[in-house]
Amino acid sequence: MPGTPPRRRPALRSLTSRRGAGGPERAGAGRPARVVVVGGGFAGFYALRYLQRHLPPESADLLLVTPEDYLLYSPLLPEVATGVVEARHIAVSLRRKLRRVRLVLGRVRDVDLAARTVSVQRGGTTQELAWDHLVLTPGSITRQFEIPGVPEHARGLKTLVEAVYLRDHLLEQLDLADAQPDTEAGRAARAEMLTVVAVGAGYTGTEFVAQAQRWLTRIERRWDRTRARDVRWVLVDVAPAVLPELGPQLGAHALTVLRDRGVDVRLETSVASADDTRVVLTDGSTIRTRTLVWGAGVVASPLVAALGLPTRRGRLVTDTDLSVPGVPGLWAAGDAAAVPDLAVAPGEDGALPDTQPTAQHAQRQGTAVGRNVAAALGHGTPRRYRHRDLGLVADLGGLDAVARPLGIRLTGPVAKVVTRGYHLLVLPATANRVRVAADWLFQSVLPPDETQLSVVRQEDARLAAAQATAIYGPAAAQR
Ligand SMILES: Cc1cc2nc3c(=O)[nH]c(=O)nc-3n(C[C@H](O)[C@H](O)[C@H](O)COP(=O)(O)OP(=O)(O)OC[C@H]3O[C@@H](n4cnc5c(N)ncnc54)[C@H](O)[C@@H]3O)c2cc1C
Repeated sequence: MPGTPPRRRPALRSLTSRRGAGGPERAGAGRPARVVVVGGGFAGFYALRYLQRHLPPESADLLLVTPEDYLLYSPLLPEVATGVVEARHIAVSLRRKLRRVRLVLGRVRDVDLAARTVSVQRGGTTQELAWDHLVLTPGSITRQFEIPGVPEHARGLKTLVEAVYLRDHLLEQLDLADAQPDTEAGRAARAEMLTVVAVGAGYTGTEFVAQAQRWLTRIERRWDRTRARDVRWVLVDVAPAVLPELGPQLGAHALTVLRDRGVDVRLETSVASADDTRVVLTDGSTIRTRTLVWGAGVVASPLVAALGLPTRRGRLVTDTDLSVPGVPGLWAAGDAAAVPDLAVAPGEDGALPDTQPTAQHAQRQGTAVGRNVAAALGHGTPRRYRHRDLGLVADLGGLDAVARPLGIRLTGPVAKVVTRGYHLLVLPATANRVRVAADWLFQSVLPPDETQLSVVRQEDARLAAAQATAIYGPAAAQR
C-alpha cells in the first residue's frame, strides 16, 4: 500500500527452533504466533495470501517452506512440454506476491508433532523451525504403482524440470531417428525412437499426447526424412474412458479427436513392465519405445505418510474446517489432504467422498485454511470448507479442446477460448498472465520455437529425482 512503511521481516537466526529449557515459545508469551506453511503451490500460496492480508503484522510471523521460490501453474505444463508456453511464464514469483512472508527454501523432511517443530532440508544442511500453527500443503507426487522398470524409465509431467526435459527428449528422439541408416537395425531403432507411450488418460497424459502431436505437425520441416505422421502415439489407461474428470460425453469426444488423429488409445489396459527400449502392456503386447510418459494419477506427498496420523487413500484426514483432528494447530489442504466434500451427496455408506485433487479445490482450500488459522488467532470467524466444482477444461492442441464450465459441455474452438480464458483468469499474477497470453499470440503469428536446449540431464528427470521422493526415509515409503 503506498505510504505504508515496509514491514520488517524477522532475522533468519530468530526463525530457527525456539526450543529452550521450557520448549518452544508460543503465542501469548509476548511474541507473535508463528504460522509455518509447508509447500508453495496453490493451497499454500492462497493460505498465505489470506493471512498476509487479514492478520495484523504484530499478530503473527508467516513462514513458507518451499523448495522453489515460485508457485507452479501446473495445468499449463503440457504447453511447456510442447514449447508453446515458456517455462518461466508459468512460475509465479512467491517473493513478489507474498511480501510479508519469510521464504525458507528447502523441503520439510520431518514433522515433530510433540515438540511442534519441522526439520527442513536444503542441500546438505538441516534447519529446525518451531511452529504454533502448521499448515501442510505439500501437494502430491506422480503415482507409480509397483511396476518393474517404471521408476527408472518413465518420465513424469509434474514439475518444470520434467516438462523441459520431455520437450528436449522428444526433439532428440526425432533428430536421432532422422539420422538412422536405412538398414534393418537402423529401421528398428528408428521405429523405437518414433514411438511415444503415455500412460494415464487423465488431463496430464491426454493433454500431453494431444498437444505434442499437434506441435510436431508444426515443426516437422526441421527434419529431412521424418514427418509428424511417422510418429506413433500410444495412450494407455486402466480406466474405460478418456478424461473421466470431464464426464462421459466430453471424454467420448476427446477419444474421438485422439483416434481421428491416429493416436492408438488402449483403454482398460495397464503396463506390466518397462525397460529402456520396451513397454510390456497387460493386454500382452510389447511396444518398442524410448519414451514412456507417466501420468497415471497422483498420490499425496510422502511427507503425509511419515506423520503417523490417519489417512484416507494416502491423504491426511482433516475435518471440514481443514484442521487435523487430535493435533491442535495442525492444518492441511490441497492434494495432500483428505477433505470431506460438503458439496456432494454422501455415498451409500453415509460417508462424504473427499474433494478431488484439483487446483480449483487446492486454491479455495488454501483461502479457507488461511481464514480458519486467522480465526484461531483471534481474527475473524472460522468456516467449514464447501465448494461446488466449477468444472474442468482440457486443451487438445490446435483448435480442439473440451470444457465443462458450470456444467455446460463445450467442445472445439469455443471450448478452446474458454480453456485459455480460464487459465488466464486463474493464473495468480498479472505479469504471468500477460506473458502467457503473449506466448499464445506469438505462437499463432511467428514460426514455432523448435530449438533443443538440453538443459536438463536425464538422471535429473527421473521421477525420484525430479519429484524428490527419496528424502523422507523408509517410514514414509512403508506406509
Ligand atoms: C500436468 C497437470 C495438469 C493439471 N491440470 C489441471 C487442471 O486443468 N485443472 C485443475 O484444477 N487441476 C489441474 N492439475 C492438478 C493441480 O495442479 C493440483 O491439483 C494442484 O497443483 C494441487 O495444489 P496443491 O497446493 O495441493 O499442490 P501443488 O500445487 O503441487 O503444490 C505443492 C507444493 O509443495 C512443495 N512441496 C512438496 N513437498 C514439500 C516438502 N516436503 N517441503 C516443502 N515443500 C514441499 C512442492 O514443491 C510444491 O511447490 C494438473 C496437474 C498437472 C500435473
